[in-house]
Amino acid sequence: MMPDKLLIKNGTIITLGDTPRVLDDHVVLIEDGLIIKVAHSADFDDNYDRIINADGKIILPGFINAHMHFYSTFARGLGRAEPAHNFNQVLQNLWWRLDQSLTLEDCYFSALTAMLDAIRHGTTTLIDHHASPNAISGSLDKIADAARQTGLRVCLCYETSDRDGPRISNQGLEENRTFIRSCIKEKSDFLKASFGLHAAFTLEDATLEIAANMGQELQSGFHIHVAEAQSDQDHNLDRHGMRVVERLHRFGLLGPKTIAAHCVHVDDHEIDLLAKTETKVIHNPQSNMNNAVGIMDLIRLHDRGVTVGLGTDAMTVNMLEELRASLWSQHLLNQDPSVGFSEVTATLLHNNANIASQFWDLALGAVEEGSAGDVIIVDYQPPTPLNGDTFLGHLVFGIPHALVDTTIVGGRILMENKKILLDLDEHEIAAKARELALSLWNRF
Ligand SMILES: [Zn+2]
Repeated sequence: MMPDKLLIKNGTIITLGDTPRVLDDHVVLIEDGLIIKVAHSADFDDNYDRIINADGKIILPGFINAHMHFYSTFARGLGRAEPAHNFNQVLQNLWWRLDQSLTLEDCYFSALTAMLDAIRHGTTTLIDHHASPNAISGSLDKIADAARQTGLRVCLCYETSDRDGPRISNQGLEENRTFIRSCIKEKSDFLKASFGLHAAFTLEDATLEIAANMGQELQSGFHIHVAEAQSDQDHNLDRHGMRVVERLHRFGLLGPKTIAAHCVHVDDHEIDLLAKTETKVIHNPQSNMNNAVGIMDLIRLHDRGVTVGLGTDAMTVNMLEELRASLWSQHLLNQDPSVGFSEVTATLLHNNANIASQFWDLALGAVEEGSAGDVIIVDYQPPTPLNGDTFLGHLVFGIPHALVDTTIVGGRILMENKKILLDLDEHEIAAKARELALSLWNRF
């Protein structure tokens, strides 16, 4: 439902944003999709269309996932893939077989179930990277349909690749162009687009050239996997005589709106190119550790001026779970449990909002006057003092284990008291997804 004026009262707000504060007994007033007032409860009467009582709960901005794959949902429990002993085998044995098996209906239900999960975990904005090489045309529209039904903010792209031949590569280019054009026309505050590319090691020069021209004509950024494994660097050096980031730079694919996911295996020269071009780099620690590709040196990238955000690569939609893994990964990499706390927490709690602002003309990621009305309410009773000095400790060590009670996007209440309020039947959707997943597994 979408009340004109929504008042959330009696909660403790962790504002995040540029100057994070903890505000006890405050209200948040949302009107026409924006937060128009954050003030002490005493200053408000009860004369609003809709009031939510957040007494004893924590109010936070909705979380942003800067690198996601909605299409991966049906991999859950899939036991037919041959064991993989390196990253290329992970792609060849699992992901490239799964994506080839997807139909347009699978794309829709994979996305819809992941989006409902995101609502349940307080993630309100997701930047996705989609693949379905035998069902490309119209696939982004199917995911967009799911986004419209769930009310989340999503930025979509199709991951163009030459791995399945030129016909499919051309369809990928075309799907990006068509979808970006339709988003420009629609001017939605919820739906955005980027130009998707798989990874440099599955893209020929001719395709990169066409993508660069198309993307620049549409004033779009690019969303691509970069140096996720050392094999990406080896391939580009052997085949093209240069490193991954240098090659992307040569084609004009870097820039403030470009998302380079992973960057686990980049050298200082490449890091400087990413910083100079203001390319946004996304850390996906759980995926990197699961695939055993290495750990991104987040602190080195940060120190050399790169904006690093946090994504999940579809390992989860729970951003605080990913944040914790990110912190442990940096401790382990540096063999020092004292390093990285501020750099790591900033990826999710600050930088992801900056990255999202490249796509949305809205202030996301803060409970502040003028920000988007994207707010979550969490069941959390702090057992130690919660204030401006301690909130990061609570966000890493306590709040990740608390349940999200209410999720609001643009002033629309998507979930309240842990009940999804949308015109969608979660049980029916899950049953349909299981039926489609089984059928996909039989084709796999
Ligand atoms: Zn990915």
